[in-house]
Formats: sequence, C-alpha cells, structure tokens
Amino acid sequence: MAIDFEVESDYQELLDWAREFVETKVSKVDLIWPHDTYKDMTPQQRAIIDPLKAQVREKGLWACHLGPDLGGKGYGQLKLALLNEVLGTSRWAPRIFGTQAPDTGNAEILAHYGTDEQKQRYLEPLLEGDIVSCFSMTEPQGGADPGVFTTAAVQDGDEWVINGRKVWSSNARWAKFFIVMAVTSPGAPLVERMTMFVVPAETPGIEIQYNFGVAGEGEDDTSEALVKYNNVRVPSTAILGGVGHAFAVAQTRLGGGRVHHAMRTVGNAQKALDIMAERALSRSTKGTLLADKQSVQQMIADSYIELASFRLLVLHTAWKIDKLNDYQKVRLDIAAIKVQTARVMQAIAMRAIQLHGALGTSQEMPLMGFLNSGIMLGLADGPTEVHQTTVARQLLRRYKASPSIWPTSLIPNLKAQAEQELFGEVFTQVVPES
Ligand SMILES: Cc1cc2nc3c(=O)[nH]c(=O)nc-3n(C[C@H](O)[C@H](O)[C@H](O)COP(=O)(O)OP(=O)(O)OC[C@H]3O[C@@H](n4cnc5c(N)ncnc54)[C@H](O)[C@@H]3O)c2cc1C
Repeated sequence: MAIDFEVESDYQELLDWAREFVETKVSKVDLIWPHDTYKDMTPQQRAIIDPLKAQVREKGLWACHLGPDLGGKGYGQLKLALLNEVLGTSRWAPRIFGTQAPDTGNAEILAHYGTDEQKQRYLEPLLEGDIVSCFSMTEPQGGADPGVFTTAAVQDGDEWVINGRKVWSSNARWAKFFIVMAVTSPGAPLVERMTMFVVPAETPGIEIQYNFGVAGEGEDDTSEALVKYNNVRVPSTAILGGVGHAFAVAQTRLGGGRVHHAMRTVGNAQKALDIMAERALSRSTKGTLLADKQSVQQMIADSYIELASFRLLVLHTAWKIDKLNDYQKVRLDIAAIKVQTARVMQAIAMRAIQLHGALGTSQEMPLMGFLNSGIMLGLADGPTEVHQTTVARQLLRRYKASPSIWPTSLIPNLKAQAEQELFGEVFTQVVPES
C-alpha cells in the first residue's frame, strides 16, 4: 500500500522553518512595502531583504523550482507544491525565496532555450532576484484566442524586426527584458505560426504607451502595461526554441507554474478561512456568537471542505507530474486545478467578507485583495472557460459513443443481458432500436 500522506521528516523540518520564517519575518515586509515586490529595491529595502534571502539560501530553499543543472535541488513538483502553500500566504515570500511569477516561468524558458550569453546576462540576475522580467503575449483585440494575434516579426538578414502591440504585459515598466510572442509565419497552422523572442528592455522601439493597474494598486504602483513594438530589431539569437515554436516554449512556463499558483492559493485561502474563523468566534449578534449560527457554520464548513478537497487535487496532480514526467499526460489535471484555483479563492474570500460585514469590504482587511486575486486567477493565464474545455475534451477521450440510439446503461436492456448471462436465455433488446 503506497498511499502515504506523511512528508519525510527532513523536508517537513524545512517546511516548518519556512512557515515560521514567513509568519514572523517576511510578513513584516509585506506590511511595510505591500506594493513593491516587482520594483528595483531601494537601499533601505536591500538592507532588510538581502539578509532574509541569505537565510533562505542557507536553508537550501532558494529558487528550488529549478532543476539541479541550474543549482536547484530537484525536489519535484510535490515538494515544491508544499513549499508554495507556505509562500502563498505572503506577497514578498516568492521574491525572497526566488520563485516569483512571471520571472520563474521566464527563467525556465531562458534556461531551456537561451544562449550562454543570454543566460549570463539575464538568467543569473533573474535568479538572484536582482532584476524582473516581462512576458508579453496578450494583445488588445484578444487574449484567450491567440489566433487573433497580429504582432509580427519579419526577418531582415541576420535580424528580426518586431511590430505590434501587446497589453497586460505585467511589470513592463520595471522589466530588464521582455519575452515577446510574435507571428512569424502568418499563413501557417496556429501551432506553428508564432515565435518567441527575448528582447532587452533598452532596445530602441519599445514604447510603453500606457501603464495601468489591477484593482487595489496605487497610481505609482500600477503593474500592467500597454506596450507598442515599433520596428524593434533583434538578432537571430533572440529567438527562443526555434522559429514557429512559441507554443512549445510557452508550455515550458505553464505546467509547473499552474501547480505553484494553485498551492499558493491554498495557502491564501487557508488564511482567509483562519480570519473568518476568528471573526465567527469573536463577534456576537442577537445574543449569540456568529459561530453558533447555523448559516455561519455552513459557511465555515463549506470553506473547509472545498479547500481540503482542492488541496488534495493539487497535491495529486503534483504527484502525477513527478510520477509520469510528461506534462501531456496531466493536461486534464492541470486544467482542472486551474479552474478550481479561481473558484476556491473566490468562494472562501466572499464568505470571509460577508462574515466581517462592512469591515470585510474595507482596506483595513486583506479580504477584498483575496477576492480580487480569485477573480484575476480566473482570467490570467487563460480564462476558466478555456480550461473547462480542456478538461472536458481530455475526459471525453476516455469514452466512446453508445453503439445504439439508447444509452448502454438503459436498465431494461441491461436486465435482459443479465438474464441471458445468468440463465442462458436468448438476448433480445427489450427497447427496440427502431
Ligand atoms: C492580473 C493579470 C495579469 C496578467 N499578466 C499577463 C502577462 O504578464 N502577460 C500576458 O501576455 N498576459 C497577461 N494577462 C492577460 C491574460 O493572459 C488574459 O487576460 C487572458 O488570456 C484572457 O484574455 P482576455 O483578457 O483578452 O479575455 P478574452 O479573451 O476577451 O476572454 C473574455 C471572456 O470571454 C469568454 N471566453 C473567451 N474564450 C472562450 C472560449 N474559448 N470558450 C468560452 N468562453 C470564452 C470567457 O468568459 C473569458 O473570460 C494577465 C491578466 C491578468 C488579469
């Protein structure tokens, strides 16, 4: 019997250390600089953050999503999932542990497809947490449907020239390089139509037309951007993974990343549940505690049940990734957790807000932030509906259509078959075909 819900004691000790470290130290940084996780650090921030990063390194927990060839521990997705559950409770923890999205995904792309020069120039400082990067794919006229992307790169001798516009290019204003997806073979089938380029931020022609924020971001902290590429020239070595291979390259950043997002959400949703439980035990109305009201008990019970089942689904997916070592074989599972990540966060955040009354909607509590993150998780990296389609398509491959106009589970026909098998009677279809 191999199913075992225990974590090896050595790794459990590391997780316990990480939890205490995030709760007692990193959470303080979250309170002081809630909006600065992607910016260049000020000297004051460096003085506080660098020693924290050093402690993480000392414990061997720095950037451990990386494979051993890049200095990572090769922990595998299951162990990483458990660590991400801890990191999800804090804004700064991913940066302090060297696992901040989208930089982690961009780092994986560079590690797989970058030249030695690109790795030295970008990957090393990115892994050090000294720079941030931008993934520039979505366009104003469409995000979920890459078939409508028009930003194009045209070859000119040994160079490529990129023209077009991208939006939702997160952290463009602070990024030192951009990974840009551009059409290179307009007439080709979609999966071969686009190519991924790495473009240094200082390349002439990159124009940030407009910075805007997600709900809750202050004017100086807006992290999103509309970026125009005006005759942006890059050498052929800027191509990542070969001409026409953008989708395969994009896959590199998404598989493991979705498990990490899901487990960070487990950590965040647990925090919302903790806050909700404390409030239920602290607030009385009409002479009894909220915790004693049946409807509140239902809210708390449903939140626990949804979170506990989601956590198991994510851990099972991570386990399958480690076991099968082939992301194609876990597409259904990864799409399923992507759908559930947004739903669980939204549902638990909504209940926590409701239970806090007006206070829950205010900036005095982190609950609206949790709800916003749940809503954004249902869009960023592909909307829920697209992932539902993947789940359904993958699942339906396991089934066949009924050979009859009637379902194979039609009871009268099944009963007749059973009688034939058990009593040797001649089988006749009880409900006729026509
Ligand atoms: C916080 C945040 C950060 C982001 N960061 C980045 C980034 O760094 N880089 C980047 O390139 N992009 C980024 N994005 C963009 C993200 O990838 C897109 O929002 C996403 O792909 C959806 O595209 P869209 O917003 O254009 O929505 P649309 O494509 O316009 O879809 C809108 C809605 O239409 C419906 N819909 C769409 N397609 C289908 C379908 N096939 N079946 C059924 N219904 C459908 C769904 O309800 C969907 O929510 C970010 C988004 C957010 C919210």
